[in-house]
Amino acid sequence: MVMTILKSIKLLFLIILVLSLIACSQDNEIMISRQKLLMGTFLEIKIICSHDSNEDEIIKDIQDAYELGKYIESKLSLYDEKSELSSFNRQGPGEYNISPLFLELLLITRNVYEISEGAFDPTLKPIIERWGFYHRDELAIPDAKEIAEIMTNTGFNLLHIIEEESMVIKQASVQLDFGGIGKGFAVDKMSEFLKEKGHGKFIINLGGDIFVFNETDDGFVWRIGIKDPGGSQKPYDIILLSNGGIATSASYYNFQTKDGEIFSHIIDPETGFPVDHRISVTIKAPNASLADAYSTAFAVLGPGRYSKVEKKAGDIHGIIMVKDHDGYEEYYINDFKSLLKLRAKE
Ligand code: AMP
Ligand code: MG
Repeated sequence: MVMTILKSIKLLFLIILVLSLIACSQDNEIMISRQKLLMGTFLEIKIICSHDSNEDEIIKDIQDAYELGKYIESKLSLYDEKSELSSFNRQGPGEYNISPLFLELLLITRNVYEISEGAFDPTLKPIIERWGFYHRDELAIPDAKEIAEIMTNTGFNLLHIIEEESMVIKQASVQLDFGGIGKGFAVDKMSEFLKEKGHGKFIINLGGDIFVFNETDDGFVWRIGIKDPGGSQKPYDIILLSNGGIATSASYYNFQTKDGEIFSHIIDPETGFPVDHRISVTIKAPNASLADAYSTAFAVLGPGRYSKVEKKAGDIHGIIMVKDHDGYEEYYINDFKSLLKLRAKE
């Protein structure tokens, strides 16, 4: 467990750097922040508030937001056999009642699955397992026949959601893995909680899945650095954001190796094989769940397939960076370039 956490923490620093905020917009404002461990990675919550706020109350709100995150983790964990997800995964074909939280996540997921033309698909659990990502077993590369057999139980279209009854019909022994959206979803739930508590300016960063908020029009922005995929310590660019979610997925940050070959943790649902491009995708979206899910989806789609999906995706903006021999190629999704502070002027 400690190893996993340490590894994730290292990953976090590789993936995205949250730089500093530019400055507090008002002289009479202060920032209160706390760091925790959640879902095997770092959670950081920073709240900007008036200098005469009750600090104890704000720290309590941060603690309660974290407890909410722990509750979501306990529902969605694949490693806890008592979680709602684990019990859902143990069931074969049939009808199952699910909790409102599970339903909400499934509905968001179905939407991204449909818009991304199946590139984002949380039913890949048995495939991800076969590629050895849960227990880090030594990898015996499967052949196409074995993958095809496993894939008789994958595909989100094997699930029918009956929203009014909070029910799901499984048409096969479908098993879910929310690794591509769960952190973003937890960030959104914690954000909703902080908004309900009346906080008007905050940032939540869970292992690189980020939501920033400023409900005022005082011009205050958060400053977010995007890691240079070329490996430089300097960020590739900086975006200034007052509201929204941001997340990064990269095919080469988490992988299995066999005989020197790299197998990414991001799987192409069309083939059941890891994506073979060395790709990093950063997405800005209205919330963290969508940023998280679409960053995974566009990492699957890559430069060859992204343009068909980008227009349908709506208020989703991003950058795809594909490594080649002497650097990387960039492709912009919708209007992301206009958010970049340094490159916007080029
Ligand atoms: P992320 O780091 O957000 O891109 O999420 C990657 C994780 O999502 C992987 O570790 C898997 O658990 C899961 N995953 C892999 N491929 C897919 C996919 N095509 N659609 C949805 N989830 C995926
Ligand atoms: Mg994701």
